[in-house]
Amino acid sequence: MHYDVIVVGAGLGGLTCAAALARKGVRVLVLEKDSHPGGTSYVFRRGDFHFPMGPLSFSYPGYISSLLSYLGIKEPLEFKRNHFQFIHPQMDLVYSRPPDELRRALAELFPQEKRGLNLVFQELRPALKLVHDVYQWCPDYLPQKLSDVQKKLVKSEYSESRKTRLAGFARTHSGEFLRKHLKNKLLINFLGSMGTAGPTMSFLTLALMWHIMSVEGIWYPSLGLRGISDRLVELIRAAGGELYFGLPVKKIVVENGLARGVVAGDNSLVGSDWVVSNADYKTTFLELVEPGTVDADFIKKIETAPYTGSELCVYLGLNAARCDFSRMRATHLFYSPQNQRPDGYLDEGPKLDGREIEICRWTDNEPGQAPAGYIGLVLRVGLGHKHFARFRTGEKKRVPEYRAHKTALALKLVKIAEEVLPGLGEAIELMEVATPLTYQDWGHRYQGSIAGWSWSQEWTESFGRKLLVETPVRNLLMVGIYAASELFMGGVPTAMRTAELASHLILEK
Ligand SMILES: Cc1cc2nc3c(=O)[nH]c(=O)nc-3n(C[C@H](O)[C@H](O)[C@H](O)COP(=O)(O)OP(=O)(O)OC[C@H]3O[C@@H](n4cnc5c(N)ncnc54)[C@H](O)[C@@H]3O)c2cc1C
Repeated sequence: MHYDVIVVGAGLGGLTCAAALARKGVRVLVLEKDSHPGGTSYVFRRGDFHFPMGPLSFSYPGYISSLLSYLGIKEPLEFKRNHFQFIHPQMDLVYSRPPDELRRALAELFPQEKRGLNLVFQELRPALKLVHDVYQWCPDYLPQKLSDVQKKLVKSEYSESRKTRLAGFARTHSGEFLRKHLKNKLLINFLGSMGTAGPTMSFLTLALMWHIMSVEGIWYPSLGLRGISDRLVELIRAAGGELYFGLPVKKIVVENGLARGVVAGDNSLVGSDWVVSNADYKTTFLELVEPGTVDADFIKKIETAPYTGSELCVYLGLNAARCDFSRMRATHLFYSPQNQRPDGYLDEGPKLDGREIEICRWTDNEPGQAPAGYIGLVLRVGLGHKHFARFRTGEKKRVPEYRAHKTALALKLVKIAEEVLPGLGEAIELMEVATPLTYQDWGHRYQGSIAGWSWSQEWTESFGRKLLVETPVRNLLMVGIYAASELFMGGVPTAMRTAELASHLILEK
């Protein structure tokens, strides 16, 4: 058996790449470990409720619409804007609003910082403008081997002054920038992380983040996340592509620095001219590619550069009449009960008191995913994999105490959320809990990582470039959120953009 391209994984990255290739007559095989398409961009059912496995909404709706239409989804996609609110003992703000509105609202909350806020936004505004379409013309976000169209765009848009400004943004630490103008720690942390964590990213990543939140917006598509994945599967099959679910790739075969195919979970060897991996980078290079076949320095970088951490996620089916939602003024609420994250946030134990949590009223986006009179709510808190590792005895295998432990943690999270949603505990009709082990064994992400590589400034430059679609192995390409060292368009659009770029590289060859 020989294919033009084998795609490892049917997440949005893998499906987008396969659909773009299949529609051009390329012979594509997609092998997916799980029983469903979409990877983490899918839903699961519990009782009469459906809940999201990962993404709740995403940015760059215009880009996604035109890409899906190019791939063959003809019905017009409509998008519903999702809004974001932050509640803290000293502030309560809906912050998904245009930069000037946001500046004015913050100045009302922090009148003594009015001047500093003017200066912050004075510098931020042109940066937001510069980064809005950076993915189209800045070589950092494009493949090393440019197409003719990309060459033209780079030539016309990437001027010396833009180059210098972007390099300056990347070198500037967001904390330094914010502290230069502002004094209030809560305000600095809010602008630096959209929460209470201290700022760690570069000014460039900060501009990308605020561009997504306050200019581009975060939206939910009328097809739903599952609908997009299912539709891509139909398109791939209609164009002659093959997809198999429940069939993992065990090994990516590399000979003399060239990808030659894969060994599937049933031990069959399948040859191909190209392999495209939608498994994350660490899984691909530390587990799937045979040791010794790739440059040791590159492997070392992949081992040492950290991923973003994982989380505890509680899914609740609620009787709407029993819970008071009056303080929740947006679909997404970030609630921080105290001024600062307690120490040991990332990996230490289950001390949830005082932690910042995310609350999403999921059925605002998909009312049909709960019965009439009920609401689907998602609670999340960042929690490290390390704490949970001791409960895992093998893939999808846990020690008996795991269930009681995660339930106890979930109930603690409910208690915190109840401070802003009175009656929440009483309203619960159904509860399901996901932990970092869930994202590891069902999401198939290395140590359950959620949101790509670390966002911290010290790591985003690790690979010397942002786009990591091409690899040192010839004809082995990467797609998905780990195929860029920075989520330059946010999660879903970055996954699909990397896939689009990978498909161009293959088609141009
Ligand atoms: C809890 C959570 C919340 C998130 N929230 C958001 C959000 O609100 N907005 C947003 O934009 N993004 C969010 N993200 C990020 C989100 O996952 C991505 O944006 C998007 O779904 C990533 O798609 P992907 O193709 O990169 O990867 P994935 O969805 O991870 O797909 C990878 C696929 O590869 C498969 N695979 C892995 N190994 C193998 C193998 N050996 N053989 C065969 N198949 C394999 C996996 O099973 C999976 O189907 C969230 C992620 C998580 C986990």
